[in-house]
Formats: sequence, structure tokens, C-alpha cells
Amino acid sequence: MEIRSNWTLEEVKSLYQLPILDLIFKSASIHRAYHSSKNLQMCSLISIKTGGCPEDCKYCPQSSRYKTDVNAQPLMKLDEVMDQAKRAIEKGATRICLGAAWRNVRNSTQFDRVLEMVKEISSLEVEVCCCLGMLDEEQAKRLKEAGVFAYNHNLDTSRDFYPSIISTRTYDDRLQTLQAVEEAGISVCCGGIIGMGESIDDRLSLLHTLATRAKHPESVPINLLIPVKGTPLENQLPVPIWDLVRVIATTRILMPKARVRLSAGREGRTLEEHALCFLAGVNSIFMGDKLLTRSNREYHQDVEMLKLFELIPCK
Ligand code: SF4
Repeated sequence: MEIRSNWTLEEVKSLYQLPILDLIFKSASIHRAYHSSKNLQMCSLISIKTGGCPEDCKYCPQSSRYKTDVNAQPLMKLDEVMDQAKRAIEKGATRICLGAAWRNVRNSTQFDRVLEMVKEISSLEVEVCCCLGMLDEEQAKRLKEAGVFAYNHNLDTSRDFYPSIISTRTYDDRLQTLQAVEEAGISVCCGGIIGMGESIDDRLSLLHTLATRAKHPESVPINLLIPVKGTPLENQLPVPIWDLVRVIATTRILMPKARVRLSAGREGRTLEEHALCFLAGVNSIFMGDKLLTRSNREYHQDVEMLKLFELIPCK
């Protein structure tokens, strides 16, 4: 099957609406044509600067506008980050993501420190991904020179629904950063969140936006909203598993080569639900007991799950 960037929204909808078993069969077949179905990439996310963010993303407990259980922490020191990265690598992580609760990158000694982190971690021969907010072309180039492999910048949802979730920046701001990242030769990691009150059409519009980029993102994280007390989305209800599986399967069919990452919201999901997600095309998860400020599925549970499904953490 050829890699296409000319999907129409109608085509995306028809895929999504296939009978669920046909949809999973189709996505599983495409997954197996482009990837080893035995391989799973384990990623580790280190929150290098936590909380106190001026943005107003309604799903995020790190926004300074909401009263949540998050204690703001300054930018971590290089050696602390290295300790965490090395521990994660020992446990099987081959991608280390560094997340900072910033609106945008500023040229400062703090950014210099992040560049040091990137340099040191990439010398351990793992992929380094950064998630630092908006950035310009010059800053993207500096990250590339430091050895960054990917930059995470999620579009979160559709263009239409975006202003209901975030008012402090626009969809076009996001796209501009993605362009700067691509132009610097850095892989793009870009996905979204489901369960924020968006419609199915919003989810499909997001997938359509990603799948019609001239170059598909190298990585597409699919996050389930974790409703956090104190945020405006604290009372959102969980997403039915069939919605999640449909989104994953459609993502896999539209962007066959991408790593589809089942990111936030795995805690509490059963083994059977995980199995469906892997079958539908997920080939990466975040490991570790914590994902930024929220608890994640426990590491030992994931180790047991990999054993049960005979999945191998990829090198
Ligand atoms: S920009 Fe990032 S850290 Fe800041 S509120 Fe939004 S999601 Fe949270």
C-alpha cells in the first residue's frame, strides 16, 4: 500500500466507520506490512520543568491558572536528568522524552541547559525527543545540532474545537512550530488527546490534518484525557474502548509508517484493552510509574504484559 498525503475527509470517515472487526483486521494487516508486530518501543518521559505554565490548556494540571495538586518545580539539573535517563534506559527505554511546561522556548541559560541534556542523553545512543512548547527555526536548529531526534508538539484536536480547549495560542501557532521543526530536519511527533468533549468529527479532522501533511509525523501519540481535579475538564467521562481502538486503527491505516504511541491514560485499562490497541496498530508506550505529573501503569505490570503478549522492546 502506498503512503498517501492526499486523503479526503470523506475517506477518513469511511475508514473510521468500517465495522469494528473489519477495521481492526485492515489496520492490523497494514501494521504487519510496515512494522514487526512483535516490536514495541518503550519511551520514558522526564518532566524537566514542572508546572507554573502560563498557558490555559483546559486538560492540563500544569497550567498556573488552575488549582491542582501539581507543585511547580524549576528546571532540573543536568545530573538529575541524566540519572533518570540512565535508569530508564536500563529498564528498556530507547526513547527519552524531555518535557518542560513552557509556553515557548526562550534563548537563555535554561535553554542552554536543555541543549546539554540533549547532547548527553543522545550520546547514550537512544532517541531524544523534546517537548518545550513553541520554538523558532533558529532554536530548532540548535536542538538539531545538540542531537535531538524528535520534537513533540501536539495539535491536540481539530482546528474547530481547538479554541474551546486553549485560548492562549492558535492552531496556526502550532503548525508554525511544526514547520520550524521539520525545516531543521528534526522528526515530528504530533498527535492528540481524546475524551475532552470533542466530537468524532473533531477526532477525524485531527487525523486528516496529520495524514495530509506532505511528510507524515514520524510519531503520533494518542492520549486519553486524564481528568484532573481543579482543571476545567475534571468531570469528563472516560472514552469507550471502541472509540480509542477506532482512532488507533484509523491512524495506523492513514499513516502506515508512523510510530503510533498509546500515551496518557493507560492506567486502569485492562490487558484485553491493551491487546486490542496493539492489534489495531500501537507500537509504542510510555513506561514508568509516572507520566509527567500523573501516575502511569506500573512498570512491573507492563513487563508482565509484554511477556504475556510476547512483545519485545525494540532497540
Ligand atoms: S502548554 Fe503544556 S504545560 Fe502549559 S498548560 Fe498547555 S499542556 Fe500544560
